[in-house]
Amino acid sequence: MHKIELPKDKFFEKVSAQGFALTFDDVRLKTGYSSVMPDDVSLESKFSRNIPLKIPIVSAAMDTVTEHKLAIEIAKLGGLGIIHKNLTPEEQSFEVSKVKFYLNGLINKPKFVHEDDTVESIINRIKDKKYKFRSFLVLNNDKKLVGLLTGNDFEFCDNYNLKASEIMTTELITAKVGTTLDEAYEIMKKEKKKMLPLVNNEGRLCGLYVFSDLKRIKSGTSPMYNVDKNGQLRVGAAVGVGDDAFARLEKLVSQGVDVVVIDTAHGDSKLVIETLKEIKKQYSSIDVVVGNISESESAKRLIDAGADGIKIGQGPGSICTTRIIAGIGSPQVTAVYNCSKIADKTGVPVCADGGIRYPGDVPIAIGAGAHSVMMGGVIAGTDESPGETIFFKGRQWKEYRGMGSLGAMEKNKGSRERYNQKETGKSELIPEGVEGLVPYKGKLSDVIFNFVGGLKRGMGYVGARSIDELREKADFHMITASGQKESHPHDLEVIKEAPNYAPPTKREE
Ligand code: 5GP
Repeated sequence: MHKIELPKDKFFEKVSAQGFALTFDDVRLKTGYSSVMPDDVSLESKFSRNIPLKIPIVSAAMDTVTEHKLAIEIAKLGGLGIIHKNLTPEEQSFEVSKVKFYLNGLINKPKFVHEDDTVESIINRIKDKKYKFRSFLVLNNDKKLVGLLTGNDFEFCDNYNLKASEIMTTELITAKVGTTLDEAYEIMKKEKKKMLPLVNNEGRLCGLYVFSDLKRIKSGTSPMYNVDKNGQLRVGAAVGVGDDAFARLEKLVSQGVDVVVIDTAHGDSKLVIETLKEIKKQYSSIDVVVGNISESESAKRLIDAGADGIKIGQGPGSICTTRIIAGIGSPQVTAVYNCSKIADKTGVPVCADGGIRYPGDVPIAIGAGAHSVMMGGVIAGTDESPGETIFFKGRQWKEYRGMGSLGAMEKNKGSRERYNQKETGKSELIPEGVEGLVPYKGKLSDVIFNFVGGLKRGMGYVGARSIDELREKADFHMITASGQKESHPHDLEVIKEAPNYAPPTKREE
């Protein structure tokens, strides 16, 4: 549990007493006595009150980072992807559905036939719709489940004018709504049934488990997968404020989105808070993470308004120019510490969004108080991010751009809204981000492996067995420019490429 006085408190009090705010390059974690082996640590954490993580890594809601491909892969690695909102509500919810259906545990809207449908009409429908299955649940006029048609029933039927009710099987095993994938698997194994419909108290059909799906999922999934209670991968989606949020929410929720993120550059603002309160009123069962902010008072206001998670970061991102253009923002490590100090009193998790470049930045962000980190630039160059690889100056690259860059804002209102310029004409846009290229990095799993490896090693040095222990035990040194220089490899003429280290980026013009 959270202790009132933590080792890092004195450090941050002294720093802030002098009016300073620090970021990753300004600090290093203090080494502590340790009996912890890096491979024995637990990386479980939370993105929001009800959304767990198996590794504390979340992918950024950006159009060059997170669509379904990356969201599927990061959830398989134990993290979470947030689908960006430079898409129409239909496109965005389709992206969500692709993640949710990747491990098709529970079929929410199973295909059914009516008890009066003839065998001929059902066979025609199978052909027209190109269904690959031949088993259907049968409903009566009251939409109550009355039977099951299987491939065998069609096989042994020689009169295609018969009705479904005349050839269907009525010996059904059903389970109640809320039955989990594991429970369903056990019931089906015991009863030797290939299909398990879920029904509500009135006997109406509410879902379906198919044994072959469950068997594939259970044998093919790793315990690292970040899945919901139905065995489907978890995924989040970004929404804007006001009407945009509600137009998206209806569709996102119908596709089973696990968490929504009110994604703005200035989370501590009237419209955001009003939107948050309204979402919590209309969709009380869905977690809402809100951002971005960088001050403790902002964290308090968002938590008081009902936030289930808060996202910290105003200007630390690799493509951000907010601090340069608008002159605002707190360096990230101090921002995370200040906001988490308030959030910890309420149990609301904090996500450190932006500015992560090296694996060692992750234990620093978590040590400062974050429950998770959100990354864009680090993973934008992977196979799973949207976009093709580009050849330039003899190397492979991928495009990476700020959601507040001219290119992203010109493309879509979703981006303009993040920066409060939804109704601004294209020629009058004020960008708060840039567009660029990042080196191509191959598979996401390789990148995440190195970041998770760095975090585990950091925890080993601090002597922390869990993310909470790292948040509690962490203490910091402030370092100077010489200390930072010493921290990187130095005095070598040539540095061989390492899988988890590249020198600070030299910019290609
Ligand atoms: P990175 O991991 O690349 O350092 O930062 C990614 C984060 O930067 C995103 O999650 C988001 O919060 C923030 N971001 C994305 N686009 C922009 C932008 O154009 N301007 C600013 N100020 N922040 C951005």
